[in-house]
Amino acid sequence: MIDLHTHLDLYPNALDILDRVNRENLFTLAVTTSPRAWVATSKVFKRHNNIKVALGLHPEVADQKFNELELLLSSIHKVDFVGEVGIDGSARYSKTLSKQELIFESTIRECEKAGGRIISIHSRGAVSKILSSIRTYKNCGTPILHWFSGSVEELTTAIRMKCYFSVNPVMISSEKGKELISRIPYNLVLPESDGPFAKLAGRPVMPWEAMNICSDLSRIWQMPIELVKNIIEQNFKKLLQEMQVIV
Ligand code: MN
Repeated sequence: MIDLHTHLDLYPNALDILDRVNRENLFTLAVTTSPRAWVATSKVFKRHNNIKVALGLHPEVADQKFNELELLLSSIHKVDFVGEVGIDGSARYSKTLSKQELIFESTIRECEKAGGRIISIHSRGAVSKILSSIRTYKNCGTPILHWFSGSVEELTTAIRMKCYFSVNPVMISSEKGKELISRIPYNLVLPESDGPFAKLAGRPVMPWEAMNICSDLSRIWQMPIELVKNIIEQNFKKLLQEMQVIV
């Protein structure tokens, strides 16, 4: 099992599920919502070899965590993975938009300076802004657009820019999600849970359930599930190879 975007530190029973996540998943990327959370989580998860902690500053808390920006920027050279970062263009966060943009831009500029990073990106209502920043800092690394919810046109641009897309079981259960996913080339799809925020039937999606997307993918792509799993695993390997990350 593989999960490229989970808020593992935010499950109510995080410490109880760590061993299971580490055992069942070949690889789990635990994204964080603030640089200080990254510091704390990295310490707690340290002995779990299959779990990597990404350095993040979530756009929804851009205002509250703005004073942690320096810690974020000064830590990028130490990590392989950055996330969750991005911009949220929905009305609820419009007041903090300029702070969000400043944080995101300076983060990917720093990723470029550091030689490129694997970056898990939140792009709700802000895909064109995200893509234009990535275009400006085109050596920022490998962007993974997590839970993509933009338009078909934006999707097409992101595909042309060779972004990866991490897809979760909630996204793939909606009609819009299926429609978008059917337009993504096989080689750009990765699995995520986005738990505990992503919930199915009122229950958080667990990191070992991220790969459940394979059954829906097998219907969308019209190919046997074993082949789908194979493609997803190859995509994951290629992602790490591109950025020369050894896990
Ligand atoms: Mn998330």
